[in-house]
Amino acid sequence: MLVTNHVLAGAVLGAGPLAERPVQAFATGVVSHFVLDQVPHWGDQRRGVFLVTAVCDGLAGLAAIALVARASRRQRPAVLLSALAGMAGGAFPDLDKPSDLFFGRSPFPARIDAFHARIQRESTRRMPQEVLVAAGLSAVVALLLRGARKS
Ligand SMILES: [Zn+2]
Repeated sequence: MLVTNHVLAGAVLGAGPLAERPVQAFATGVVSHFVLDQVPHWGDQRRGVFLVTAVCDGLAGLAAIALVARASRRQRPAVLLSALAGMAGGAFPDLDKPSDLFFGRSPFPARIDAFHARIQRESTRRMPQEVLVAAGLSAVVALLLRGARKS
């Protein structure tokens, strides 16, 4: 699954049910990553396709973080913190990808990496689904941040 969607799912958690609870938002974000990776999603093992997509996805994920942070600026600071924590937790398990690319190894124990690889349900035909999920999660985040204004 695209890391952008993991980031957006973490934002939903941190701006919604776990607003103002950053530790729980981060932890639940990590759990959400492994749950979402079990949902059938896009994936392509061809190295060139994977790398180009990963770079674009990484930039989109960073843009999503910046947009959520900007949209949170009228919230209480604790909501911004929990939204950021949820996004960090959602993306955290995928740190193995850039780490492997730049440093030649994953930062996680081999058992975790094996589990992470085993749960993937990928197909090269599911990119439209990824885009729809991103749009849906973005809309939910926008509604949550609009609904929970500073009081
Ligand atoms: Zn993953």
